[in-house]
Amino acid sequence: MEDQFSLDGKTAIVTGGSRGIGYAIAAAFIQKGARVIITARGETALLEAASSLGGTCIGKRCDNADPADIARVVEEAWRLSPVDILVNNAGISPFYKRAEQVTPAEFDEVVSVNLRGTYFCSVEVANRSFAEQRPLSIVNIGSVGGTTPLERVAVYGATKAGINLLTKSMALEWADRNVRVNCIAPGWTETEFTDELFASRWGDKLRGDIPMGRFATGQDISGAAVFLASDAAQYVTGAILPVDGGRLLR
Ligand code: NAP
Repeated sequence: MEDQFSLDGKTAIVTGGSRGIGYAIAAAFIQKGARVIITARGETALLEAASSLGGTCIGKRCDNADPADIARVVEEAWRLSPVDILVNNAGISPFYKRAEQVTPAEFDEVVSVNLRGTYFCSVEVANRSFAEQRPLSIVNIGSVGGTTPLERVAVYGATKAGINLLTKSMALEWADRNVRVNCIAPGWTETEFTDELFASRWGDKLRGDIPMGRFATGQDISGAAVFLASDAAQYVTGAILPVDGGRLLR
């Protein structure tokens, strides 16, 4: 019987793929047969990641805060191979501050990487898919923080709530052109992004709020990404899938 979860012959872009959740997703896609282009700003880590992921992975430097850079990378990727899957994973939350302490520059930085970056990566790839009448699966990486308020990450949470609605809006507008758009909402996941936070005095409290009693790993998130990217999800669009050990149930 055909493996509906196979990604054989497909090409994927995973933004922010040099470490953490993006790296785990790229690894899972490669295992399922995909060619993967990972992007990030830091070139050394990017090239090391691409080389450790193996022969079908290429690293391309890209700053998601810069729409012109996004357009360049999508064009370069397309020249290698038309893209079947886009994972909008690059995301930042460079500070834990109360809402009233955030500066306009900090606000703009988070919005431009997380929300505007997700928007314009999606548009760049989707426009090329439309032109060639190719199917496309977009998987956005949101957060439980886009559904429920978490303390000291108001701007981050707002960008993730924005990604939830972008997911549904683009899914609705693009459904008749064979472009599916879905979103994974990870709970707290062990990566460099959260290292310091989990090791701090908040760590035990955050873990204690998770019904399954442990933080996620990148691998916990990557299985959901394989599902949404693959033909197994061919009738799924506009979904927000929590992968959070039950965190949103509380
Ligand atoms: P991470 O370990 O910090 O990795 C982030 C990746 O994004 C890196 O490859 C980083 O490389 C890249 N990146 C950052 N800024 C970028 C930019 N401007 N342009 C292009 N690439 C950029 O983070 P993570 O924990 O894996 O998080 C990945 C995604 O999951 C994010 O969207 C995050 O919001 C979401 N998420 C994480 C958690 C969690 O608990 N870890 C929970 C929910 C959702 P460079 O720095 O070299 O650019």
